[in-house]
Formats: sequence, structure tokens, C-alpha cells
Amino acid sequence: MIVPFNSFEKTNFEIKDEIISSFNAFFDSNNYVLGNSVLDFEQNYAKFNNTKFCVGVSNGLDALHLSLKALDIGKGDEVIVPSNTYIASVLAITFVGATPVFVEPFIDTYNINFGKIENAITNKTKAVMPVHLYGQAVQMDKVIEIAQKHNLYIIEDNAQSQGAFFNGKITGSFGDINGTSFYPGKNLGALGDAGAITTNNEELATRIRALRNYGSEKKYYNNVIGYNMRIDECQASFLNIKLKYLNNWNNLRNEVAKYYFKNLNNIGDIKLPICAEKSTHVYHLFVIRTAKRDQLQEFLASHGIQTLIHYPIPPHLQKAYSFLNFKKGDFPITEEISDTCLSLPIWPGISEQQLDYTISKIKQFYQF
Ligand SMILES: *Cc1c(COP(=O)(O)O)cnc(C)c1O
Repeated sequence: MIVPFNSFEKTNFEIKDEIISSFNAFFDSNNYVLGNSVLDFEQNYAKFNNTKFCVGVSNGLDALHLSLKALDIGKGDEVIVPSNTYIASVLAITFVGATPVFVEPFIDTYNINFGKIENAITNKTKAVMPVHLYGQAVQMDKVIEIAQKHNLYIIEDNAQSQGAFFNGKITGSFGDINGTSFYPGKNLGALGDAGAITTNNEELATRIRALRNYGSEKKYYNNVIGYNMRIDECQASFLNIKLKYLNNWNNLRNEVAKYYFKNLNNIGDIKLPICAEKSTHVYHLFVIRTAKRDQLQEFLASHGIQTLIHYPIPPHLQKAYSFLNFKKGDFPITEEISDTCLSLPIWPGISEQQLDYTISKIKQFYQF
């Protein structure tokens, strides 16, 4: 049996007819950039995300980059970010010339250890970028408390957690301005690259609208030096359709997670992910930890079960960031996660047979 790491068989493929007819409507519209589908999607996503504004952009990295830019964060400024995040959060900070300041996560939830944020604050700190990693909402009350006390902006990286909640409030609605990604594999994925920012601040939304479009609010009048970082009209039309299914697909992911929890309890040295109090999880990824990670991955692969590592090298040890002068051992919890984490297949519609097979192979591995 083959168990792919991810599959669109029960998502994109099941709604193919709807997607094709929206493509036809897009084609016939004669309006291929920033047309009605973008406007519709921005309204729909703002509503879904319980924010006043949504501005569609080219991808998640650009969403974070533009968010920092709109807040005037740049050279000489510091931005606090979890040390175990995906590289894109860090790249965005670097793009505007600011310095990423890493804070370790909790070993069990994988989300930022808010108890360590204050120690990382200096007089250069301008913002904190919580990342709802793997799909679990960060304990935002703690982050907000610290940010308010030290007068810092909050920029949520909501790329992995569309539809997650903390204390009844949806992720992507806490920060001053927030970025998300609709990369195909994300919980809400386009059929190509796309992203968005969400905010309740009209001035910031207006700035992003200009920045994504050459810095112009009125065609051919450029008030600031902007970019071409527009969301694609065609992708927006697909996202409009897929958004209707997102909650349902997130529920299916939760059912898969439940199945893993029930069946992988007390197997070998496996540590299952922990969900914090008041946080919900949309299981973008199901990440376990084991000291025998590499052997387990290889064993599963030899039986047709694909797994991935998120992420094998933490940002502070990436070659691209050697200029920050970190070394192995500087962020031990992050490094421990990198060395032991394994993401199991999880997607809406993965079959019970595929799950049973995966679970039985994991059990078999630990019987050696
Ligand atoms: C995917 C991702 C991004 C970047 O999104 P892209 O659309 O691929 O640019 C940023 N942050 C996190 C945490 C992500 O998982």
C-alpha cells in the first residue's frame, strides 16, 4: 500500500467541476488582474477570519514581508520570532533589513515559549511574530500581555493555521496585522501561489493595497516605492470556492489526529503532540517525536509510507543565516525538535485502511 504524505484526491479532485466552472468564469471575465474574484475573496476571507480587512497578496512570504513594511519596521529594528519556525517567517524579517531575535518553543506544543519572550526584548525590539506552528493556535493572551507592556506590534504568521482558535477567537485576528499563505499544501490552498494579510486597521490595509501594487493607490501615481505582489485573480476565484469547505476539511484533519492519538498512545518512545489549554488545532501537520526518527522514517518509506521532517535544520543553523553567528547548542529545544520530529501523513479524506496500515507499520517498527 502507498500512503502519500499529502493528497488532493478528497479536496481539489472532489470539487473539480466547481473549480473548472470558476476558471471558465475567470476566462470569460476578460479581467485577469485584481478583478471581482479578488474583491470577493478578500471580503469572504475577512469575514471568515473575523477581521475588518483582508488584502490578497502573491504568497505567504510576501504577506509577512509587506506586513513588516507597512509597520515601518526596518534596519536597526529587532523582531522576535520562534526559533523553530519555517524559514519564511525569518526571511520576511530579513527582507526589510530588521534582525530576527529567536525565542525557543515549548517542547510539547512546539509553539513559542511566552515565558522566554521578555528576556529577548531590547530597546530595539519593535514587534513579535507568533507563529501558529503545525496548525495549533499560540497562547495569544500571554503574547498580547507582553506586547502591550513593552509597546510592541504583533504580526501573526497564520500560514499553517487557518481556522484555528485561541480562547474562542480565530487566529489571524489577534495581531496588528497578520500574514497567511495559500500555498497548495496549506489547509486552505490555492492551485498555485497566493497569500493574504488580515487586519482591523484600515490605514495598514490601505498601505498594503498600495505596496502590493507598485506603491500606487491611483493608477500611474506612485506615492511609495512598492512591489508587484498582487494575488492572482484566477487563484482568488479558486480560493473563493475552497473557503466554503475549509471548516469541514479541518474537521476531517481533526478526526485523523484523533485516530492517531487513540492508536499511537504508548508506542515505543513516541511523543505525541500536545494541545495547549484554550488552543485549538487544525492539524496542518501531525508531528510526533522519537529518538529513532531517521530509522522510523526509513522503515516507513520502505513500506510505502511517506513522512516528512518539519524542519531538518532550524533557521539559526541555516547557511543563509551564518552571519548571525549562531552555533549548534544555542537553541537546544529547537535543535532537539529538529533531530527527533517526524510528520505523519494527515489530510482530509485519508482512508481508515491507510491509517491502520501506517499505525501497524509504526507498531511493527518498535517491536524490533
Ligand atoms: C508556508 C509558510 C509561509 C510562507 O508561505 P508561502 O506562501 O510559501 O510563501 C510562512 N510561514 C509559515 C509558517 C509557513 O508554513
